[in-house]
Amino acid sequence: MREHFEVRAADVAGRIGELTVPRAGVTVETPALLPVINPNLLTVEPERLASEFGAEILITNSYIIRNDEDLRERAEREGLHELLGFDGAIMTDSGSFQLAEYGEIDTTTREILTFQRDIGSDIGTPVDIPTPPDVPREEAEADLETTAEALADAAAVDVGDMLVNAPVQGATYPDLRERAGRAAAATGLDVFPVGAVVPMMNAYRYDDMVDAVAAAKRGLDVDCPVHLFGAGHPMMFAVAVALGCDLFDSAAYALYARDGRYLTVSGTEHLEDLEYLPCSCPICHEHSAEALRAAGTADRERLLAEHNLHVTFEEIRRVKQSIRDGDLLELVDQRARAHPAMLDGYRALLDHADQLEREDHASKGSFFAVSHESARRPEVLRHHERLDRLAVPDRLLLSEYGAPSNHEYDEVWRVVPPLGPFPRSLSETYPLTAETPERTDEAAERSAADGVAALAAANPDAEITLAHDGWHAAALSRVPESVTLEDLSGLGGGNESA
Ligand SMILES: [Zn+2]
Repeated sequence: MREHFEVRAADVAGRIGELTVPRAGVTVETPALLPVINPNLLTVEPERLASEFGAEILITNSYIIRNDEDLRERAEREGLHELLGFDGAIMTDSGSFQLAEYGEIDTTTREILTFQRDIGSDIGTPVDIPTPPDVPREEAEADLETTAEALADAAAVDVGDMLVNAPVQGATYPDLRERAGRAAAATGLDVFPVGAVVPMMNAYRYDDMVDAVAAAKRGLDVDCPVHLFGAGHPMMFAVAVALGCDLFDSAAYALYARDGRYLTVSGTEHLEDLEYLPCSCPICHEHSAEALRAAGTADRERLLAEHNLHVTFEEIRRVKQSIRDGDLLELVDQRARAHPAMLDGYRALLDHADQLEREDHASKGSFFAVSHESARRPEVLRHHERLDRLAVPDRLLLSEYGAPSNHEYDEVWRVVPPLGPFPRSLSETYPLTAETPERTDEAAERSAADGVAALAAANPDAEITLAHDGWHAAALSRVPESVTLEDLSGLGGGNESA
């Protein structure tokens, strides 16, 4: 077990955890947001990030500090916490970003990690290679070897009680991401950033991002704290947390503010296009859109950055409450409506339902089947996989409505799209307590039909009849011929509680 990370609550593969950062003497609750601090340009002072926004941890770049004579001298003399004016945990990056941008940096893992230790960083980072998406496989593999050497070098540095990041790369090759995750987990290092996802997010390739993270997670251990490196837009926190990401960093709050961009949980607006501010944070409460536009450049940038931080931290809190409530997938479902690319991300997440199902043991309060995608949720898959454990009588009626008043069946079970069939005795157990719309859709019916098929396959000798409310032909075609069909539509509505 990694003693510095403890999971307190979980939903899907998302978790509320406690990351103990020994050097800072603090415990950070995850999911956590790390505001990115440019040491040359403090858009919002770190002290205010803690007191007004609740930041427990932030991230800055040790390579920038090292290569600036004044900053370096002050960091070495005063220490990083004094330099930034921040008492919480500070993570430092290594210059890998600069390496990716400029192709060359003048440091090594050993040197920069020692520097991070010396200036008082709480979580340090080796020089890994952030391989961009879509490079030839040979290049991604060669980069991974270099990153593996960096991790080995990092493990050999005497860092005291500084935690150390073990980045997981592998570009857009899921098997390489998985292998890299397994190798990183084996190093004995402490925190696991999934790297080089920014180009995917910038290109709205949320499905590729989901596949990369899911693959990395397969390689990592459950007790590995995972950082989705460079992901700071609140729109994608819910889906990333549902995959099992624990840490996020945001440079976006400041970079977007500089461009006059206003973050929301459903996308990015341009201040110049806004007549109204759709937010109740202190900034938006006290200013109109017009007043923000009329402010001086520096003021406008700071005010927009503060709004951006407020919505970003608010979404982190909302995600945490969703984990506590056990309805994180409903939040993902809502966020997925913001953009077709987000919907692709959600659908990619559901492609990994079997992987999520292995981590998602929680019995929850609610399951709202609110979309086409709900039919593919891990709970539905799990129910179908467990149907073969149920004792089935010789003559069984599966009915969307109640039992007929006179019948010769041995038992009458309910069948509810998208879940499928189940005995009435299980009606009060999760997820069969699901709230479903009365106006069901074809995806839900197809999923319920798959449940009927699974039940029939597990009980080839049983006589099964399915009484459905006018299901689509595409759903009925998935029911095996051995099952007798009765169409109840046109009977004037049913009686669910009978
Ligand atoms: Zn606001």
